Amino acid sequence: MSWEAVIGLEIHVQLKTRTKMFCRCAVGALDDPNTRTCPVCLALPGSLPVPNRQAVEWTIRLGLALGCEIAGHAVFHRKHYFYPDNPKGYQISQYDEPLCVNGRVRLPGPDGVAEIGITRAHLEEDAAKTLHVGGAEGRIHGATASLVDFNRGGTPLVEIVTEPDIRTAEQARRFLQLLRQTVVELGISDAEMEKGSLRFDVNVSVRPTGSDELRTRTELKNMNSFAFAARGIEHEIERQIATYESGGQVEQETLHFDPNREDAPPLRSKEEAEDYRYFPEPDLVPIEPLREWSLDELGGKLPESPSARLERVLAAGLELRDAEALNAEPARVSLFETIGEAGVEPRAAAAFVLNDVAPRVDPARVDGAELAKVLRERDQIPREALDAAVAASASKGFTADEYLRERTVADASELDPVIDRILSENGQQVEAYRGGKEGLLGFFVGQVMRETQGKANPKVVNERLREKLKT
Ligand SMILES: [Zn+2]
Repeated sequence: MSWEAVIGLEIHVQLKTRTKMFCRCAVGALDDPNTRTCPVCLALPGSLPVPNRQAVEWTIRLGLALGCEIAGHAVFHRKHYFYPDNPKGYQISQYDEPLCVNGRVRLPGPDGVAEIGITRAHLEEDAAKTLHVGGAEGRIHGATASLVDFNRGGTPLVEIVTEPDIRTAEQARRFLQLLRQTVVELGISDAEMEKGSLRFDVNVSVRPTGSDELRTRTELKNMNSFAFAARGIEHEIERQIATYESGGQVEQETLHFDPNREDAPPLRSKEEAEDYRYFPEPDLVPIEPLREWSLDELGGKLPESPSARLERVLAAGLELRDAEALNAEPARVSLFETIGEAGVEPRAAAAFVLNDVAPRVDPARVDGAELAKVLRERDQIPREALDAAVAASASKGFTADEYLRERTVADASELDPVIDRILSENGQQVEAYRGGKEGLLGFFVGQVMRETQGKANPKVVNERLREKLKT
């Protein structure tokens, strides 16, 4: 029997607003511990939350970028749980009336475009951070004390939940990559996994290929990179298939994947049936986005989506790897396209942008049309001239002319008389070459280059010499 995976993602993105979600504290999770706190985010009695308008607006923009419907009426709920990182005893989140629902994202890949549904995107506040000290690797086990840093507590967080539309680990990696780029390019989050401003969980189940059932799923947590997540998902798909094929059942559980023990069985913990006793937050009025904002205005200001760019670049016939590397910066893609429009073949244009331009100059500042003129003549000019053109291409007033003047002489009618003269002046070497000393070709090339002050095109000189030295 063949199997297919059913994968859904839950992604948390920390917004880079200046202040927290419900108070005026500055967002600064990495500042000195407990220096960014106030009665509201410490949950002192009598304090009242006030929503951050910027955070709501950014969540709506993200929703629009993900093709979501924006709710006319959105409500904050209290989600109850007791934990030291949560001083109120509940987190303000959204439940059955989130800001954004029913989105759709195009996910381009080497085998065409998949469509991934977005169940919802809602706004909530982040928890504080607990540090366990005295034990190994910051784990609670063996620790002598647990410390809480409330700087992160109350930071605005968007949670994005996908439909279980993802079928492979590689698709999951690509989706996460594009989502990360989307929030970074919208300017609403740094989305840095190392800093915790982008975090995600993965739900995985498998089913016989072609069936539409949804079997028991497991949840992978603790993912710390996209590549690592892809390996973790791969691993979990194989484990579930093996379980079913040996007659067993997959149990609903949360797997804490350990990055340092990749091939070892993950540490398992049973998921508790959770009851958060959600109820509407009585201290906050519902949000009415359609009355407060003009969606046309918010949507009209959206930059082109990274997904649409990737789709275009792949359609030009590039390998996924190159397409993704170009897509990492919008300016790389537009330079690639300008160079392509100037008649350079797509693969060559991509290789040039990635290997020659991007490591040396900022592609956003390059005059692509002028640089393309030099690139088109790359076989006719010395390598150094092309390099010099790249280095200068981001400067004001850059033109191709100066570098094209270095164009080599490739015209046989100009080169032949020079070659003929050199051959007649070096009769002895000609004899020796024809007698089998083919290494002498380099000697003749050298002579021609000297005569032409280096302007001769070496490829053509080689061809002409071989032709003329034939017996
Ligand atoms: Zn505060």
